[in-house]
Amino acid sequence: MQTKYSYKKAFKWLLVYLLLALVPMLIAIAGIMPESRGFIMELGVAFGFIGLGMLGAQFLFSGRFKSVAPDYGMDNILQLHREMGIIAFLFVFFHPTLILLADSSFWSYFDPRVNLPRSVALISVSIALVVLLASSLWRLTFGLSYERWRLLHGVLSVGVLFIGVVHSVQVSHYLAAVWQQVLLVVVFAGLGYLVVHTRLVRPWRSKAKPWKIVRVTPERDDCWTLHLEPCGHNGMTFECGQFVWITIGATPFSLQQHPFSIASASDDDGLLITAKATGDFTSSWENIGPGTRAYLEGPFGSFTPVEGKNLFLVMGGIGITPAMSMLRTMAQREDKRRAILIYANPDWEAVTFREELDELAGKIDLKLVHVLQETHADWKGETGLIDKELLKRHLPENPGDYCYYLCGPEPMMDVAELGLRGLGVDWRSVYSERFEVI
Ligand SMILES: Cc1cc2nc3c(=O)[nH]c(=O)nc-3n(C[C@H](O)[C@H](O)[C@H](O)COP(=O)(O)OP(=O)(O)OC[C@H]3O[C@@H](n4cnc5c(N)ncnc54)[C@H](O)[C@@H]3O)c2cc1C
Repeated sequence: MQTKYSYKKAFKWLLVYLLLALVPMLIAIAGIMPESRGFIMELGVAFGFIGLGMLGAQFLFSGRFKSVAPDYGMDNILQLHREMGIIAFLFVFFHPTLILLADSSFWSYFDPRVNLPRSVALISVSIALVVLLASSLWRLTFGLSYERWRLLHGVLSVGVLFIGVVHSVQVSHYLAAVWQQVLLVVVFAGLGYLVVHTRLVRPWRSKAKPWKIVRVTPERDDCWTLHLEPCGHNGMTFECGQFVWITIGATPFSLQQHPFSIASASDDDGLLITAKATGDFTSSWENIGPGTRAYLEGPFGSFTPVEGKNLFLVMGGIGITPAMSMLRTMAQREDKRRAILIYANPDWEAVTFREELDELAGKIDLKLVHVLQETHADWKGETGLIDKELLKRHLPENPGDYCYYLCGPEPMMDVAELGLRGLGVDWRSVYSERFEVI
């Protein structure tokens, strides 16, 4: 079947992941093997190498690399990043635990009287790992803003990786040969560079291609649309359903860099980005003056229509933005494919782009299904929340001719993913875009 995801691609990326995660271990066993020091001790060492490799792989599978995302989908990568981060933490945690179990004399590694720099490095890396994990799992509980968390996450990750590599080289039990040490440093310097690339090189490049916000228009449900035009360049080529990272203001080097789906049609000259005012960044949009600078990085994402396939769109609230791009593009290109839009909202007044969707239904083959939680007296449509039964009522007769796109609040996405699967829809034709990153 024609989809973007496949077992073959999944297998390819699994291999890439395994290779990266096993790099330190492979380098270690490629050299001259020292005498065994007992099973528990060697297991502890192996856990350290695997944990280090997995932490390194986190830099590639972070959702920021265009070459990785299309085969997986942005939200799958972020989920992988999150879950592998937890597993890497466990490997690293069991590394000293097992070694100390096997030989308690290794406590001296943490003793500042024996070796001050080494003990400081190992104690710091242990604390850094706990902070990394806890701040990622419970960011909101700690009241940490997304921007501060991202800065902390980046700095700690690079620090942990650096100390991990230095530690492996210094211990050098398995990495005694210079070529092994050099190889390990080169591979991890390459992975570390990915952060520099994301945080410095990419913003630097986007500096040469500034955008101008020509106006900001209000939409239903406290949403605001930015109308962006390129300044002195040809703009951006993107596929409908993709997203960009946007920085608003004089410089692209800002912690306030946020991802937003492009809502405009693919062939428009400018770009439209619509957001719901939920936090400090999006709430500031209504006061943005015309002419304000913006910097965009992208486009990213694989939440895009598959050629020749009809579209079954399940959207909730502001999750409608990538669907708007798809539907607007279909209208612009006089696309004859069928689109079914299941669009959930709290009430009729909150249905963002309601009027435009009616207009689009007059231009393209669009079946519009509004789902309202709170209804008014003469409401005849769907009510309540999206569930399997509702999806079943609107599932086309020929489900194999469609690709399925889900974007909205997390509970809606979970129900829709499981519901579609329960209705026999092939998982490879279901694409999700989750807005809640962490
Ligand atoms: C691929 C993608 C596409 C998106 N498209 C849209 C869209 O079209 N319209 C829309 O309204 N929202 C969209 N979002 C969500 C949007 O990025 C966040 O709502 C926005 O960043 C919130 O910022 P805030 O400071 O106003 O709110 P806050 O209250 O600070 O943040 C609310 C939540 O948004 C997320 N968030 C905050 N800052 C960032 C950041 N820098 N990077 C990533 N996530 C962040 C966090 O999960 C946070 O808990 C998208 C998110 C993703 C991942």
